[in-house]
Amino acid sequence: MEILSPRDVPLGGVRAMSVRRTLPQRQRTFVGAWCFLDHYGPDEVDAQGGMVVPPHPHTGLQTASWLFSGEIEHRDSAGHHAFVRPGELNLMTAGRGISHSEYSTPGTTVLHGAQLWLALPDDARHVDPGFEHFTPDPVTGDGWEARVFLGSLLGSTSPVRTYSPLLGAEIRLDAGTVLHVPVDPAYEHGVLLDSGALTIGDEALKAHELGYLAPGDDALEIVAAEDSLLLLLGGPPFGEQIVMWWNFIGRDHDEVAGYRAQWQHLLDEGADERFSLPDDDPLPALPAPALPNARMVLRG
Ligand code: MN
Repeated sequence: MEILSPRDVPLGGVRAMSVRRTLPQRQRTFVGAWCFLDHYGPDEVDAQGGMVVPPHPHTGLQTASWLFSGEIEHRDSAGHHAFVRPGELNLMTAGRGISHSEYSTPGTTVLHGAQLWLALPDDARHVDPGFEHFTPDPVTGDGWEARVFLGSLLGSTSPVRTYSPLLGAEIRLDAGTVLHVPVDPAYEHGVLLDSGALTIGDEALKAHELGYLAPGDDALEIVAAEDSLLLLLGGPPFGEQIVMWWNFIGRDHDEVAGYRAQWQHLLDEGADERFSLPDDDPLPALPAPALPNARMVLRG
């Protein structure tokens, strides 16, 4: 198992929270199509600031929001206004272009969860923007409980459509539980441990680490040394190279620079052929940072 340790990244804004980022890293861009893993909390919103992310754009990806506690209000330029709550998947498809905002709600005292990005494969990355909501029924066994929000695991299958084969699930384990998890041997997997302590095979994983497992195994043997909460992510190796910069995914420098110019065009002129803004947002949209001096490079 390859262990990826998080780095702390401020989410932006005055008094705003910071997140633990385990993907992308220098040595790894993908786990399947999963290409961006931000994990946060439990944060006391009064002390650490809540989530205050004004309208900003995305292209070429889907965002999956998954909470353990708290509530986030979502607005997007495709007309969706939704509340993200624990145990409920909110999957936003950016496709050819969307903008959205995310604010923790006034009633939220503790915010705890993850925001994950999925790269869209080349044949799907220009689809129309969209938004889906799904609440999986938990599946349980002796000392464990799982919520499968994308793909199939442990006898539970999510109906949410994806553009490449994917797995996403929350698993809770009581201390001492040994869980045998049959998996697709064509998939690579990532185990993001929120809390507790585990071994997978004979290798230990600590809280906040991402354990990467290459394809080839038809089962994972997870042993919980403590009460543990994890996200299990997977998919076949993505097999395409991407350029990721700010909130955009594209296929080369010029394409991403073009997305940036179109977003700035919207902010400067009030209209753009690719991007628009969510209705009734309480805060002004975020301008894009300056482009890097060097040309952006393909990863993956
Ligand atoms: Mn976003």
